[in-house]
Amino acid sequence: MPEYQTSPGTRDILAPDSTRWRRLVSVFAEVVESAGFGQIIPPMFEDLGVFLRLGEATDIVTKEMYDFEDKGGRRIALRPEMTAGVVRAFVQHRPVLPWKVWYAGPNFRYEKAQQGRYRQFDQVGVEVLGVDDPHLDAEVIALAWEFYARLGLSQVRLIVNSLGEPADRAAYVEALRAYFSQHADALSVESKQTLQRNPLRVLDSKREQDAPLIAGAPVITDFYSAGAADHFATVLAGLERLAVPFEIRPGLVRGLDYYRKTTFEFIGGALESSQNAVGGGGRYDGLAEDLGGPATPGIGFALGVDRTLLECDAEGAFRAPSESVAVFVVDVTGGLEALSLTAELRAHGISADRAYEGRGMKSQMKAADRSGARFALIVGGDELANGTVTLRPMLGAVGDERAQTTVPRTELIPTLKRALSS
Ligand code: AMP
Repeated sequence: MPEYQTSPGTRDILAPDSTRWRRLVSVFAEVVESAGFGQIIPPMFEDLGVFLRLGEATDIVTKEMYDFEDKGGRRIALRPEMTAGVVRAFVQHRPVLPWKVWYAGPNFRYEKAQQGRYRQFDQVGVEVLGVDDPHLDAEVIALAWEFYARLGLSQVRLIVNSLGEPADRAAYVEALRAYFSQHADALSVESKQTLQRNPLRVLDSKREQDAPLIAGAPVITDFYSAGAADHFATVLAGLERLAVPFEIRPGLVRGLDYYRKTTFEFIGGALESSQNAVGGGGRYDGLAEDLGGPATPGIGFALGVDRTLLECDAEGAFRAPSESVAVFVVDVTGGLEALSLTAELRAHGISADRAYEGRGMKSQMKAADRSGARFALIVGGDELANGTVTLRPMLGAVGDERAQTTVPRTELIPTLKRALSS
């Protein structure tokens, strides 16, 4: 084993998976840019205070943050998610409203690493600031839905909930606190601790021991003010109009403290339940104010790239592309021809590769075969003397010699373009 390996919870993404990864981000960009979103590239670290606004009761803040003091004595943290930094950017730049942004990039959480749960993981997502219209909630959710559809996924499910207005949510939290405290003896040790920090998160417990109590717990629906109930009903009507199927789950509280009203999660139907959340989001109408800006409504979502690709694997969708060049240049005259021919082909938009170190014909043809190229372009002594090249369709290790043609160098590019487009 080499002395140095990737640190736990991190991975190298190699080709062709890296190509697939980049294409996934392109598909996302296409979907959201057609809806008027512009890209934001925020820094990967911020003042720790930006993330502390996510809430003291949030695991990713209290337990999982990569924070440190930098050489200038500042308290810094690697971002554990994107929303806080984006809202910080909003407060800093005060863009024209509504502000619709999308992003892609890595986040860092000190989690117990396992399949689908990493310490460095990527997300793509959007945020919209400045609009309280519930139709926006439906539109935003539908964008994520469209993205999954364009990847060819068919087993992703959408679950939605509303956490009500802040006052509704606060009353509900107190009702949960009272209920769970009254039955604390029946709760698991872990949930008893969670109860102290955030009664809402007890609803997230997957422990069997907690299930009966959770099933009998108060339901958020009974705490909605008229405004919150209306808002939620309009979101759902919007989703129906857009033919986005959903399931209402009143127990969906999500990990972050800042959510208000609409919350939602996308579940990968082909993944294990411990890491089947492929994405999620919601409204965070109080966050801009918390970060020192004007009271501004906000909504967004983040979709896990790593997990979405695991769902693609499991569903056999959005496969990794085959990595091959169009043409492999085989030069047995010393290598200078390969040097200039590959450059010429690439300059004309034809992907090309070659072998190095003056290898023999047989070895170069083997490399041509491995490269997956459709054509080998052969330059031997005769070709060099006549100003021609031999174009051989590849088919097995030596190519199809009978179908090969000899082409004047001056005709090479148009001939190749014709051959490659057929
Ligand atoms: P969250 O901000 O926790 O709601 O995360 C949004 C999405 O990011 C989740 O639905 C996951 O797909 C993904 N995600 C969150 N944490 C991790 C992690 N540790 N490893 C991989 N993906 C993650």
